[in-house]
Parts: sequence; structure tokens; C-alpha cells
Amino acid sequence: MSKLSLDRILQSQGFGTRKYCRSLIEDGDVVIDGVTQTNYRTTVETDGLVLNVFDEEWVYHEHVYIALNKPANFECSRKPSHHPGVLTLLPEQFSWREVQPVGRLDHDTTGMLLMSDDGPFIHAQSSPKRHVPKIYQATTQDPVTDELVAQLLAGVKLHDEPAPLAALTCIKRGEHQLEIVLEQGKYHQVKRMLAAAGNHCSALHRSAIGSLTLASLDIAEGEWCYLTREQLALLA
Ligand code: URA
Repeated sequence: MSKLSLDRILQSQGFGTRKYCRSLIEDGDVVIDGVTQTNYRTTVETDGLVLNVFDEEWVYHEHVYIALNKPANFECSRKPSHHPGVLTLLPEQFSWREVQPVGRLDHDTTGMLLMSDDGPFIHAQSSPKRHVPKIYQATTQDPVTDELVAQLLAGVKLHDEPAPLAALTCIKRGEHQLEIVLEQGKYHQVKRMLAAAGNHCSALHRSAIGSLTLASLDIAEGEWCYLTREQLALLA
């Protein structure tokens, strides 16, 4: 339980600078429980708080934990160079509060991308010491052979890695479809492993992280949702 002044609350949620948030309140653009709030010094309990700003509902979150169903042709970088950034798919308040991707997907990779503004969470999730399996569905240029699967399971050598990298599991799902599970998150890892094994990845989709599947979240491509505590626990 914590009480904060209204201007601090709005600023923490990404509505803008403190000065701008004060002006929103003074202009009568902020309503709580049907009451227009005009004094920015008013303190309010943040637990379970639902604000109405410019007639739109906004549920207070101290930190946000989001899953985005990433479409192709969006970059994970905060300063994208060739394609729009994934942040453009989220409400602009999230850019203000510095929500960022937890790890990265290539611009042409689709599927589950976690995003948050909780630094320790991002750090913990991205740590190389964490061995959370990430499940990818790869489309290959050449047919998937038993030999390819065996090679990926045994480990392939990537030029800048000291030791071979192996898939945790690898299953042929179709003539050109491979499900590959990795516990590391090296740069372009799936694509480079497939290339090292003599094939080529022509499309890549992340379908799950840990036991949290994208299918269970039921979000269309380009859409996002908040993750509940229970869903976050599945990332462990
Ligand atoms: N491996 C890749 O090659 N690309 C991704 O986006 C994720 C994993």
C-alpha cells in the first residue's frame, strides 16, 4: 500500500513531465471514481487505482511486465535505424516510462517479446546465468533432415563462440519446419546455428519462453498484454 500525490502518480505512469501532469490535473482532465481531480497535491492510494485521463481508463502499475506478439519488420532497439521500433506498438506512456525489450528479437523474427520498465527484472531475465528455455519455430530453406536435427542437438561451432552451442531439444515439425529450444540467447543464435549446420533460416518465430506460451496469451500479431504474477512465474 502506498499513497502518492496525483502529479507524481501521473508522471510515474508516463503521462509526461511533472509540470505537464500538473497542468492536466488543473485543467480537469483527470477523473477518479467519477470525481474530477483539480488539486495535484491530493494524495491517493495507488493500490488498485484506476484513473481516467482524457476519458480513457488507465490502470496504475508501479512497474509493467508486458508480452508483445511481435510482427516482422519492427526493431527491438530504442533507437531503431531501418524499421519502426517495437515501442511504437505500445501506448506512448510506455516510452515515457522507459519500457524496454527484455532481450532482443531480430527485426524479421516474430513472436513473444517481453518488455518491462523494471530494471532488476530486465537484468535478471537477460542474465547469461539464467537458463530459461526459449522455444522457436524456424522455417528452413532446405528440407529438415535427421542429420540436421542430430547436428543441432550435438552442438555446432559458431565462429565467435569458444565452445559448440547445442539445442536443448530439436524436433522436425514439417518438411521445412523445425522446433528448436535454446537456453542461451546469443546474437542471431538460431539463424547462425542453422547456417553452421548447412541450412538457412528463412523465417523465425518465438512461440514460448519457459512454460509461458504465446498461444496461451491469445494476443494477435502486433498486440500486447500485461502479464500476471502467475504468468511471470512461468518464466522461471
Ligand atoms: N535467434 C535468432 O537468430 N534470431 C532471433 O531473433 C532470436 C533467436
